[in-house]
Amino acid sequence: MRIAVLATGGTIASRREPDGTLAVADSVAELLAHVPDLAGIDIRGFDLSCRPSFTLTLDDMLDTVRAVRTKLAEGFAGVVVTHGTDTLEEAAYLTSQLTGRDARVALTGAQRGADEPDSDAGRNLMDAIRVVTAAEPVGVAIVLGGVACAAVEGRKVHTSAVSAFSGGSAGALALVDHDGVLRLSASARGGHYADRPVPDRLPRVDLVKLVAGADDTHLRASLRAGAEGLVVEAFGAGNAPQSVAEAVRDADKRGVPVVITSRTGAGRVRPIYSGGGADLAQAGALFAGDLTGSQARVALALALAIDGPDAVPAALRNLVEGRRP
Ligand code: ASP
Repeated sequence: MRIAVLATGGTIASRREPDGTLAVADSVAELLAHVPDLAGIDIRGFDLSCRPSFTLTLDDMLDTVRAVRTKLAEGFAGVVVTHGTDTLEEAAYLTSQLTGRDARVALTGAQRGADEPDSDAGRNLMDAIRVVTAAEPVGVAIVLGGVACAAVEGRKVHTSAVSAFSGGSAGALALVDHDGVLRLSASARGGHYADRPVPDRLPRVDLVKLVAGADDTHLRASLRAGAEGLVVEAFGAGNAPQSVAEAVRDADKRGVPVVITSRTGAGRVRPIYSGGGADLAQAGALFAGDLTGSQARVALALALAIDGPDAVPAALRNLVEGRRP
């Protein structure tokens, strides 16, 4: 079995500088130097970039998705992407929607630099290799801290712990350790655009988080800055004060879709409160089920780029419900 490891940078490839800061340093050859020879598995490494993920844009991530698709098309049975963890959830959501649900693709990173004595870098890379070479496909996954969660569900939930990612309400796909991969579930979502070309670029979609007393200032600033779509991390089940509803109405008139998520991080949003979510829906806002703000932002950017503005409501529904087109 031949697999590809695509390196993009991140802590997994970082080492301490003389001034004590962490900087990306390792190439894929250095990452793979710690992987033992594995019977029957031919691992090839490719350097895509050498950057911390907090500097990456969604368009940079599209380049990674193109490379993943190319390697699978060239006959690699599986692909591991090494990536910074800070924006891994965006890269994972994007990769998951643009590759087949059962593709043998794993994204991994590390919380501790490669030169720390208790670094999780080598272990996470090895676990990701275990996932893409498992007897049965696990699905497109984020692999860190001995847990594989669906790439389409994953979110970073800790700044420093080695168990940095959660699959949210969907939980884990598999447990991974020296004994191999123990599959637990299959993802109900992802792969929505697996048969569509990877877009050249994604439109600007801004995310605005609401706090008590917030008004429409940031939404209107985003509109002025040229956002083609807006995502709001609203209160509770998807509520916001009147000035936000008015900004939604104005955005809707301009043909800029506004998508509502919850700042709580779990559970569905629903337009049920008079003077809150119900007014947002009446103003034209779309409700993004249980997607987090950053997942909904990537979903909306993909829907705008691939389906076009008129088809966004249906596309968003399908992305939330895991229905394929
Ligand atoms: N803290 C980050 C990481 O874990 C830095 C980055 O995202 O590149 O990789």
